[in-house]
Amino acid sequence: MQYDFLIVGAGLFGSAFAHEATKKNKRCLVVDKKEHIGGHLYTESIGGINVHRYGPHIFHTDDKQIWDYVNQFADFNHFMNSPLANYRGEIYNLPFNMNTFNRLWGVTTPAEAKAIIARQRLETGIREPRNLEEQAISLVGRDVYEKLIKGYTEKQWGRRAIELPPFIIKRIPVRFTYNNNYFNDRYQGIPIGGYTGMIERMLQGSEVRLGVDFLEERSELSSLANKMVYTGMIDEYYDYCFGPLEYRGLRFESEELSIDNFQGNAVVNYTDRETPYTRIIEHKHFEFGTQKTTVITREYPYEWKLGREPYYPINDERNNALYKRYQELAAQEESIIFGGRLGNYNYYDMQDIIREVLELVSRI
Ligand code: FAD
Repeated sequence: MQYDFLIVGAGLFGSAFAHEATKKNKRCLVVDKKEHIGGHLYTESIGGINVHRYGPHIFHTDDKQIWDYVNQFADFNHFMNSPLANYRGEIYNLPFNMNTFNRLWGVTTPAEAKAIIARQRLETGIREPRNLEEQAISLVGRDVYEKLIKGYTEKQWGRRAIELPPFIIKRIPVRFTYNNNYFNDRYQGIPIGGYTGMIERMLQGSEVRLGVDFLEERSELSSLANKMVYTGMIDEYYDYCFGPLEYRGLRFESEELSIDNFQGNAVVNYTDRETPYTRIIEHKHFEFGTQKTTVITREYPYEWKLGREPYYPINDERNNALYKRYQELAAQEESIIFGGRLGNYNYYDMQDIIREVLELVSRI
C-alpha cells in the first residue's frame, strides 16, 4: 500500500484530518473533485479581495482549544459579525437587540421593548403554534416577524411561512442590550489572507490531487490506501440505494464594482419578500479592505436537485430516517470512516468540524 489514508474531500474535515494523520507520520493522499482545495471554505482573490465563493464564513467558537488549533494555520483578524437587515430601504441591526427595537418602535429602554413584545405575543392568542408563522409570532410578536423574519424565511425555504413546520424556528435570539455582535462566542475572526491559505497549510505534507472524483475511480483509488476517510455525500457513495437525501441549494451572483464601498457592511440581509435574493455580501469588509474596487455577491436560495452543489441538509423526519439507513450501511464498513457535513448529513459550523476531527483522531 502506498498510503495509510485515502482522504476523499479537501474541505475542512479532510484537510484537518490529513494534518493530524501526517503529524503522526501517516502517509495521506487527498483527492477532491473540485479544482481547488478548501471545499466550502474556499476563498479566491479578485482584485486583491478574498471572495468567499460558497457563502460568507466567519470562524467563531467559545472553545479555547479549538481557537488555538486553527490559529496554528492562520492569523485571524478581529472581524465581528454584525449583519444588517434591509426591509424596503429601512435598515435594522441584527441579531434583534435594543438597536433594532429603537429603530422599529422608537423605544430606548429594555422595559419598553419587553412590554411591546409581551403585548404583541398576548394579542395573537396562539397557544400551540401550527406553523412557522405562528411559532415566530408567538416568540417575538408581529412587528419583528413581519419586517425581519417572514420574507427572509420564505425565500430561504421557497415556501410560505404558514406552510412550514413550526420546529424550523425553535428559538429566536432576542437581546435587550445594545449589542450588534451576532455570535455569543468569545473568539471570532477571519483568517487574514483568506481561508484557502489556512487549508493549504493544513495540507502540507499530504499528496493532493484535484479534479479527481473518487466515485469515477473507486477501485483504483481504494487500492492505494489501507483506510479511507470519506467526506462526500454518504447517499452518493452508496449509489442512492435507498433514495437521495435532500438539500437546499444556493446560487451566488458576484460582480466587481469600480467603487470602493457598496453597502458599508459585510452582510446585509434583504428581509422583504419581493427582493429575489436573501442577502448581499461585500467581501472586502471581512478584512477591512481599502482597495479601490469592491466585490459583491447576491445569494439566491433555490430548490436543490441531484447533481447540483448541496448546501443546507434538510434534516426533517423523512430525510433523517433515510440517513439512518445509510448510516447503518456505513457502520458495517471496516476501513471507511464517513465524516464532515456530507458524510454525516448534518449542518456543522467550522468549529464543530474541528472538534469532530480531533475526537476521531484520538479514537483511532
Ligand atoms: P466541504 O467543505 O463540503 O468539503 C467536502 C469536500 O469533498 C468538497 O470539497 C467536495 O468537492 C469533496 N467531494 C465530495 N464528493 C467527492 C467525491 N466523490 N470525490 C472527490 N471529492 C469529493 N460555518 C461557520 O463556522 N461559520 C460560518 O460563517 C459558516 N457559514 C456558512 C455559510 C453557508 C452558506 C454554508 C452552507 C455553510 C456555512 N458554514 C459556516 C459551515 C461550513 O461551510 C462547514 O462547516 C464546512 O464547510 C464543512 O466542511 P466539510 O469538509 O465537511 O465539507
